[in-house]
Amino acid sequence: MPAAFSPAEFDEYVMHTYARFPLTLDRGEGCRVWDTDGREYLDFVAGIATCTLGHAHPVLIDAVTEQIQKLHHISNLYYNEAQGKLAQWLVQHSTGDRAFFCNSGAEANEGAIKLARKYAHTVRGIDNPIVITAKASFHGRTLATITATGQPKYQKNFSPLMPGFYYVPYNDIAAIELAISYLDYEKPQVAAIMMEALQGEGGVSPGDRAYFQRIREICDAKGILLIMDEVQVGMGRTGHLWGYEALGIEPDIFTSAKGLGGGIPIGAMLCKSSCDVFAPGDHASTFGGNPFACAVALAVCQTLEQNRLLQNVQARGEQLRQGLEAIAPKYPNLISQVRGWGLINGLVLNAENEVNSAAIVKAAMAEGLLLVPAGLKVVRFVPPLIVTEAEIDRALAVIDRVLAEL
Ligand code: PLP
Repeated sequence: MPAAFSPAEFDEYVMHTYARFPLTLDRGEGCRVWDTDGREYLDFVAGIATCTLGHAHPVLIDAVTEQIQKLHHISNLYYNEAQGKLAQWLVQHSTGDRAFFCNSGAEANEGAIKLARKYAHTVRGIDNPIVITAKASFHGRTLATITATGQPKYQKNFSPLMPGFYYVPYNDIAAIELAISYLDYEKPQVAAIMMEALQGEGGVSPGDRAYFQRIREICDAKGILLIMDEVQVGMGRTGHLWGYEALGIEPDIFTSAKGLGGGIPIGAMLCKSSCDVFAPGDHASTFGGNPFACAVALAVCQTLEQNRLLQNVQARGEQLRQGLEAIAPKYPNLISQVRGWGLINGLVLNAENEVNSAAIVKAAMAEGLLLVPAGLKVVRFVPPLIVTEAEIDRALAVIDRVLAEL
């Protein structure tokens, strides 16, 4: 049966900002999705590390149904209980003291950058604050966050970029120390350092513990704020609730989105009370923190805790990594490394081989497994956090078959 609305028709009406795969998905359940022809796929993409509880989870259905019938949107002119309860859960389960809600990861990072700039102006007397970020990072697609993103390919043709950013190689202590002494040489200018605990889009590259602990020391000594972008790795994906826990550090500010709503759009920025310099009128979002998104996100958070999903992430992550590590040596021409934490893992392709990540993703899709590239040479595995042992085994069997065929 042909799709009711074909990709060709779709492309007639929707702007071509995405290089989509020729697949129209129609419904999902758990870690599986079905296309419009009724063909089943194992979903190891989860809306790009977003569908924490998979698809059509009863908790999501109940939370959505209950809240939409009660109250869905009221603006931030008034208080709403769901927003307060979600903020309370996040504060009680993190190092943050207070939360601001928005609708996406980029927007959460915008809020973090604004907060760090205001802190620099009002607390430290810095006129032109600079935020240091890492090369190969990814922080979003707004103008400030493409500037923060240390990858020129996302910035091309969008100049003038935002002033006030400086890039350093990731996991390189000497480079960041040098950058700070250079930038702060005449007078303090560095307002914040913004990093991912594990670079997701940049190729599933885990952060180094000693590097981040040294960054924390430098920030403490100089009054610089440490912002952790937890948009992709937060909410349990690494086997810790927050990626910064894996590094043994506490950020001053951190951001969350993706997995927070389990697929319902929501973003959050949390900070310690010591740097909460926002006053009424400083920052806002019409949809931010509406009762609907917050009630669903709270249900996701509570389910993560009640169903001990972090333990599942650790066990299934270990199973997946061990499986990939057993498969990789069979294809030395294709695979150079397996890396990741918890349920964010990357199969790193051999730089010399012409096969790129999109080719493997397409071949896996043809075999009924959905995967997502993280750049040209890394294939990313980010299944829902509810993934089962049998589903990991199934995915491993498919990837082995796909690599053998290539
Ligand atoms: N930060 C990180 C680390 C991300 O991985 C992403 C998206 O992939 C973003 C920010 C941007 O999030 P959004 O697409 O929700 O704006």
